[in-house]
Amino acid sequence: MNMRPQKPIPKPKKQVQVDLKNAETMKCAKCDISIFIQGYVIKRISAIVSPTGQEVIAPVQVFNCGSCGELLPMGGELDELI
Ligand SMILES: [Zn+2]
Repeated sequence: MNMRPQKPIPKPKKQVQVDLKNAETMKCAKCDISIFIQGYVIKRISAIVSPTGQEVIAPVQVFNCGSCGELLPMGGELDELI
């Protein structure tokens, strides 16, 4: 009987464990508070420019400082959207 080496059985994917101890706590640029509340900026794409030809309402999730309401900069394109 030919014993060919078996392929290693792929292990089930582990959930990515993020070590928050090493993570940076983002703070409000204005008041140094690190508690943010979740909000949405609603973008309306008019029917004229929409690819579907219909008006589109697109919520963009943002985070606001829980104290002064300053928007947390998300970086890149999202900031331009807001
Ligand atoms: Zn603030």
